Amino acid sequence: MMRANTKNIERLKDRKNAVILAHNYQRPEIQDIADFVGDSLELSQKATKTDADMILFCGVDFMAETASILNPDKKVLIPDFGAICPMSQQLETEELLDAKRKYPDAEVVLYINTLAEDKAHADCICTSANAVQIVELMDSDLILFGPDSNLAHYVRQRTSKEIISVPEYGLCPTHHQITESDLLDAREKHPEAKVVVHPECIPEIQEAADHIASTSGIARYCKASAEKEFLIGTEVGMLHRLEKEIPEKRFYPLSIYAVCPHMKMHTLEKVEMALETGEPEVTVRKGVADKAREAIERMLELSR
Ligand code: SF4
Repeated sequence: MMRANTKNIERLKDRKNAVILAHNYQRPEIQDIADFVGDSLELSQKATKTDADMILFCGVDFMAETASILNPDKKVLIPDFGAICPMSQQLETEELLDAKRKYPDAEVVLYINTLAEDKAHADCICTSANAVQIVELMDSDLILFGPDSNLAHYVRQRTSKEIISVPEYGLCPTHHQITESDLLDAREKHPEAKVVVHPECIPEIQEAADHIASTSGIARYCKASAEKEFLIGTEVGMLHRLEKEIPEKRFYPLSIYAVCPHMKMHTLEKVEMALETGEPEVTVRKGVADKAREAIERMLELSR
């Protein structure tokens, strides 16, 4: 395979009036050529504001689907169609519908890490940046929440509402494998460092942390803090953004094994190829997209 030509990527972007959106967990070289790098909430917000004709989404399936739902008239591409988030596969639509039948008074708040078919059955979507805020703003005191049971734990600690997890044990394999022994080892090596983690981490890691936040919340916290060293408990791609934006501080991964293989599937070569060929395109069936859009737009409205 030929090496990617970043000048050609720029030329193709201009020619096709394309914008490149990249998640914080992307490879460093992808983050560096992106027009915008952010977390799921920021990327969804960005996707509603672009006047580009084409969106090249360097993230996983549900993120590109969300961009397509919010931009039915634009072409949305993903460099590698195989970038599928395992968490988004953990919610079975039938299980969600069963739970809705069992708890008719509950409202459904689904994490953005879900497929469009499931979003279409939600009252509102949330991200890790606004999950507590969204749950609090729902009318009902009973919330069906899925699929991440670790994020559900985080929300439960911060609301008096009853949160029922659907499925009972959904999780992100990348965050779930950051263990308490990783934390002990990292603290031993960097005793001065503050521990900042993502709410997809297991409850034991959340409880031991100095701060819990979405990836962009992690960046804001590290920037504002007077501390100089941080242990970061999320996917390791986040360290590139932190080192680039806050070069005067030191960042260490809580676990070097916290790598999401799905996020890392995109390469510069695949970016160049997607821009060149206009494929692979991400589309969502109209009926499903229309219903899912209502739940996503409700989140965007409530997050303003
Ligand atoms: S880091 Fe976890 S939640 Fe994010 S895409 Fe990878 S598997 Fe899915």
